[in-house]
Amino acid sequence: MDVAQNLAEIKTKINEASHKVNRDPNEITIIAVTKYVTIERTMEAIEAGISDLGENRQEGFLEKYDQIQDNVTWHFIGSLQTRKVKDVINKVDYLHSLDRLSLAKEIEKRASSTVNCFIQVNVSGEDSKHGLHPDEVMEFVEKISQYTKIHIVGLMTMAPHTEDKELLHQVFGILRNLRDTIKERNYPFAPCEYLSMGMSNDYDIAIEEGATHIRIGSKLVGANK
Ligand SMILES: *Cc1c(COP(=O)(O)O)cnc(C)c1O
Repeated sequence: MDVAQNLAEIKTKINEASHKVNRDPNEITIIAVTKYVTIERTMEAIEAGISDLGENRQEGFLEKYDQIQDNVTWHFIGSLQTRKVKDVINKVDYLHSLDRLSLAKEIEKRASSTVNCFIQVNVSGEDSKHGLHPDEVMEFVEKISQYTKIHIVGLMTMAPHTEDKELLHQVFGILRNLRDTIKERNYPFAPCEYLSMGMSNDYDIAIEEGATHIRIGSKLVGANK
């Protein structure tokens, strides 16, 4: 399937999910996750109208970033090792994986201007997943106030691989409630308006629960290298 066809199908599903909960589908940003695919396939996505790209590893990010920068917003969505911060932090527009103070500290040291960050939350509690426990997030946000280069734009989570829709609603709902709590505090360094949640298999449910940024790889650009 070409990317344009995939995108058309995804947009139809986004419209349906938005309609169900009275949301404006235009407030949802589609991030094309290009980690599985070539530069050519990534260019195809851009030609189809995609403006936001996501990579989860430093190598893949740098390889694509070096060739694709014009009119593209770059999202770093994978966990970021502290020693790799210096290589990527001044190139990404959004970091989706802020999950520890040591990372915040390194960003503070290396960033030349403010970095838009999502705090990654491990809502489902699976060992395989990165992120803070929901109970730790509020205290973490308060500690971030001392890092002047970090701007908390929202929260991010990865849901478990499951067909259990109830569970997915629950996981995404927990992230939304947490976002609302932080947003209510009106911290200038943490407007926390966004929710980065929903991937190829669960983005419709994420949208029903308030996702503003969905991260789609396999169903959009494919999983072939
Ligand atoms: C790979 C990846 C995605 C996209 O996954 P698909 O299921 O292929 O849509 C989204 N978010 C993160 C953090 C990823 O690593």
